[in-house]
Amino acid sequence: MSDNTSLDVRRQLPSVDVLLAHPLLRDAQACHGRTIVRRAVRETLDAERNRLQRSGVEQDRQIGEELPVLALDRLNGLVQPNARAVFNLTGTVIHTNLGRSPLSEAAIEALIRAGRHPVALEYSLDTGRRGDRDDLVEQLLCELTGAEAATVVNNNAAAVVLALGALGGGREAVISRGELIEIGGAFRMPDIMAAAGCRLHEVGTTNRTHERDFEAAMGENTGLIVKAHTSNYAITGFTKEVSESGLARIAHAHGVPLVIDLGSGALIDLAALGLPHESLPRDAIASGADVVTFSGDKLLGGPQAGIIVGKREMIAAIKKHPLKRALRCDKLILAALEATLRVYRDSDCPECDIPTLALLNRAEEDIAATAERILAKTQGLVADVDVTVEDCMSQLGSGALPVDRLPSHALVWRPCDTRRQVRERRLRWLETAFRQLPRPVIGRVNDGALRLDLRCLAGEQEEAAFIAQLDRFKQRFDMLADDEGGSA
Ligand SMILES: *Cc1c(COP(=O)(O)O)cnc(C)c1O
Repeated sequence: MSDNTSLDVRRQLPSVDVLLAHPLLRDAQACHGRTIVRRAVRETLDAERNRLQRSGVEQDRQIGEELPVLALDRLNGLVQPNARAVFNLTGTVIHTNLGRSPLSEAAIEALIRAGRHPVALEYSLDTGRRGDRDDLVEQLLCELTGAEAATVVNNNAAAVVLALGALGGGREAVISRGELIEIGGAFRMPDIMAAAGCRLHEVGTTNRTHERDFEAAMGENTGLIVKAHTSNYAITGFTKEVSESGLARIAHAHGVPLVIDLGSGALIDLAALGLPHESLPRDAIASGADVVTFSGDKLLGGPQAGIIVGKREMIAAIKKHPLKRALRCDKLILAALEATLRVYRDSDCPECDIPTLALLNRAEEDIAATAERILAKTQGLVADVDVTVEDCMSQLGSGALPVDRLPSHALVWRPCDTRRQVRERRLRWLETAFRQLPRPVIGRVNDGALRLDLRCLAGEQEEAAFIAQLDRFKQRFDMLADDEGGSA
């Protein structure tokens, strides 16, 4: 093969403008605009030219027919958002790596409204003067938690740093050894305290901490007492911890505040839904805590936020801290949070209207029915892979109720072959093919199978959207199998 021949082949490629005039790409321009379609076409032609040059073969496919399709593929890659929707079938309902809570319809509407229009964010519509952005949610938070005052920052980690810095900066923060938590993503209580300018004063032991341990630690350098929810582990067996009211009594006797980092912060009693009990901000406030912090996007089911509620003068001090300005939320978050809180205040059924709660509360029979319907669509879909429905256990995730599990059902994809290597390769293709779909499906691999916990595939629309991708999934799987040299 001479250079001349491959040059000739390259010359057979159409021009950008000729390709742009193809009906498929004309439609694409009507939908996405000229700029991005032209870019996709140019990149496709460049790639094709390079490929021909590299391979040096004569025209190995029908250039004229394939190019528009290749350009469309490339266009799809360019226009599909990075923050695209995925299916969370991992079995972890509040999955931090998948963005935690889906929002309620009310919160979504509020987000759109606040995105589209100016809103009275720091402007009092009563007086026409400057207002405070916390006013959008403070009253609601007080009503829902029984606190005197409230403020909101970017996330709960920020809320803890800010509360500790404002109330205990330069002094000692006393905390039980059993609560020196590390949450995923480098939230470690000792580091957070250091960042806030507090000196860590740990008391008690890992499994047992008594009131007398706290009493003995109190001194003139004490800035505050901290209690942290042990979100992602449980200490069981021979244990003892001091109650919130016990801690409040000790703190107040020594003139310092009690700060409780609740982590998840459910606003309704989960036990009423037949779920395990999770302590509420309202209970922490009622037991005498001066400041309580919790996340907006865990069990509360709203946008990412760190909520701080408590005594009026403590919240005032927190709001005056210079970091408050650095950690504040924007109008989109505050609008979505306000709408979420209104659901809790006004709805007849918050556990129906807050998607996170609805998923946790979903009836097992309903999940089983989804599993059976989907199973029927998957039989024989891919060769040499058994698809079955198995019982499984979902978890809440994000540090809510670390040891509790909810019975659920999973669609289990198990490659079958006597050779382990073959099974493992097929498993990888399964996982990859699901991940490469327009709306990627994220499951969990263990014990030689891909498991899709169907708890979070709720509602007819979601089910239909999942099923609608199955053909494409099969194509992707077969392509991966072909690329890697047959199914063996
Ligand atoms: C999750 C959690 C945090 C961190 O909250 P983010 O909202 O993720 O910043 C802090 N403390 C506890 C106890 C938690 O569970």
